[in-house]
Amino acid sequence: MATNESVGIFSSASLAVEYVDSLLPENPLQEPFKNAWNYMLNNYTKFQIATWGSLIVHEALYFLFCLPGFLFQFIPYMRKYKIQKDKPETLENQWKCFKVLLFNHFCIQLPLICGTYYFTEYFNIPYDWERMPRWCMLLARCFGCAVIEDTWHYFLHRLLHHKRIYKYIHKIHHEFQAPFGMEAEYAHPLETLILGTGFFIGIVLLCDHVILLWAWVTIRLIETIDVHSGYDIPLNPLNLIPFYAGSRHHDFHHMNFVGNYASTFTWWDRIFGTDSQFHAYYEKKKMGKKTE
Ligand SMILES: [Zn+2]
Ligand SMILES: [Zn+2]
Repeated sequence: MATNESVGIFSSASLAVEYVDSLLPENPLQEPFKNAWNYMLNNYTKFQIATWGSLIVHEALYFLFCLPGFLFQFIPYMRKYKIQKDKPETLENQWKCFKVLLFNHFCIQLPLICGTYYFTEYFNIPYDWERMPRWCMLLARCFGCAVIEDTWHYFLHRLLHHKRIYKYIHKIHHEFQAPFGMEAEYAHPLETLILGTGFFIGIVLLCDHVILLWAWVTIRLIETIDVHSGYDIPLNPLNLIPFYAGSRHHDFHHMNFVGNYASTFTWWDRIFGTDSQFHAYYEKKKMGKKTE
């Protein structure tokens, strides 16, 4: 009965999405994207696509998404949106971060990316255009990956803050008290492996096409670079996502060192009360503004 009910809910939801999709205008980028995808399939092997394609997607998107936050430090108008105004970014810190990032990306992440091809072969994950899922199904699976990653991140990140192990691994990620976008993947190699596992669990459970890998990488990078940006920009569309933690949430974690352990959503910190200091801090700030 319960299974029938959930199947009913899912098929109604998918019918609703189909209906909304039918009302939307034709995507003008569909045809060029299809041509580019088929060109890639015709000219490169699956190994090249899974390995070098994934590496290029990760590197290009990482630095592209870091670019706005990087440029904000040179624009005086943006200073009012900086969360920890008393700790401006320094070029010295950013250069140091950049060097560690290159090491992490090429010496830790690249060997892991090399496993992508074998993963897709083992699970028979398709690459072809014909079996590529619709945008709404892709988005739903990315949301599933985000929920799984956020849960993994909350508990393992909280464990990494345990006073007996904090100084050995996670301390590196907390080197800069006021975060900046590039710091998102600035971490000890073991942390890259431990917290990075949360990224792959969703892929193993939900991957039905190689495009999900790249879509999920894109969403995860947008999220982690946004929460590390150090800026709370008004009208940031990400803040419209229900339960989205956002930059103030994670910025407070870097400023305070305890609390706000989740990566994407607010529910785990709310359930375990690990966001109480965060809320008390902003409540006090609000009260201070009122009495001024
Ligand atoms: Zn931490
Ligand atoms: Zn962080």
